[in-house]
Amino acid sequence: MKSRRTESRERPLERAALVGLVTRAARRADPDTILDELEGLARADGAEVVLRAVQDRPSPDPATLIGQGKADTLALACAETGADLVIFDNELTPAQGRNLEKVFGRRVIDRTELILDIFAKRARTREGRLQVELAQLQYRLPRLAGSSDALSRLGGGIGTRGPGETKLETDRRRIRDRIASLKREIADVGRRRSYLRDRRRRGDVPTVALVGYTNAGKTTLFNALTGAQAVASHALFVTLDPLVRRLKLGDAGQILLSDTVGFIDRLPHQLVAAFRATLEEVAAADLLIHVVDAASPDRDRHLTAVRNVLADVGAAAVPTIEAWNKIDLVDADERARLETSPHGEVLISARRRDGLDALARAIAAHLSMDTARVRFDLNLRRDADRKTVAELYKMARVVAHVADGDRVAIDADVPRRLLGRFPRAKVPA
Ligand code: GDP
Ligand code: MG
Repeated sequence: MKSRRTESRERPLERAALVGLVTRAARRADPDTILDELEGLARADGAEVVLRAVQDRPSPDPATLIGQGKADTLALACAETGADLVIFDNELTPAQGRNLEKVFGRRVIDRTELILDIFAKRARTREGRLQVELAQLQYRLPRLAGSSDALSRLGGGIGTRGPGETKLETDRRRIRDRIASLKREIADVGRRRSYLRDRRRRGDVPTVALVGYTNAGKTTLFNALTGAQAVASHALFVTLDPLVRRLKLGDAGQILLSDTVGFIDRLPHQLVAAFRATLEEVAAADLLIHVVDAASPDRDRHLTAVRNVLADVGAAAVPTIEAWNKIDLVDADERARLETSPHGEVLISARRRDGLDALARAIAAHLSMDTARVRFDLNLRRDADRKTVAELYKMARVVAHVADGDRVAIDADVPRRLLGRFPRAKVPA
């Protein structure tokens, strides 16, 4: 972390021009705010925004997206403001990207590439880095043809000349080989992770995952709860890979708390695919804490985006606590309204450490509430049954134990997440 910060201080900020296209079909509420999210992303990537332009057209131009005339005007504006690169809010086809680079005479990227770049800089775990590299290569492969710049961005070094046809073919093959080997490595890491996940399960420690829109305050909350020093920043995507810490939580005993990816709207599909494995960790959690920025004007849109991603990764059924954060920024009226909301949100301020006790109680309640009362008829002469008795006393709450010679009837409250381990459990009549 330290070196990254020094680096960004020493290097002058890249100057970025932001461009968005609005078509009649997809016009959103306010033209002034259309590029706000892109600006947040660009800043998170270390760029300084020197120009914002929104073009309104009935439909995208196949050659230049925004139309040749608009592109020419923007080229002048870019020169005037000294922009180093142009970032498009819309996804560009390979041909549009090439044409626009010619018109502007500077580097052109789209939102997907920007997000990939941020992910590449911030991936912390080996798996995260592999996933981002895979997504980048898959995105760039079809864009290689005829672009003199694409290869240098793949690591050929600045000043690499445009590749000849043969070289291009070799490079394509090299990239396909790398893609295949990345997929193998990712599968290996994934197997190892699910092994670790099983081990955690065997250790009987429930896992609680923080989820939520980017910038909602997940890392701040993670730190407040665990006393950890992960970097919280007013930036998008600081957290890419789940960071897991063991934490003692009053009555709930120990939990494993993980700080996960920040979700955003319109996550490029390459990234959804790339991070599916990581997001599946979320689906495997015993409990989710959905951190919501209660003070954000886009609160409802963010809520929906997060719920959609959760449903996408199969986590819709995981019990969820909504922690409405940044309550310190919410005005008194709204706060009073939220306090009496029937949906059971927990109001907190992670930064001021307000409401954390209530949150801890809610976590404890959810984790211990989620049990099922089941009956076991066991025979103590069988090894497997003796083991089951021992495990029940360790992992469940035994409420009745009736012995009759070698036979035992046990009623117990078993955490639902452990029910799979007790195939002989019966629902009592
Ligand atoms: P994440 O992307 O969800 O992990 O969000 P971070 O934890 O990185 O926080 C994003 C920004 O919100 C940071 O500038 C935090 O200091 C700020 N923040 C987090 N919690 C609170 C809070 O309770 N109140 C206020 N005012 N700001 C907060
Ligand atoms: Mg974070």
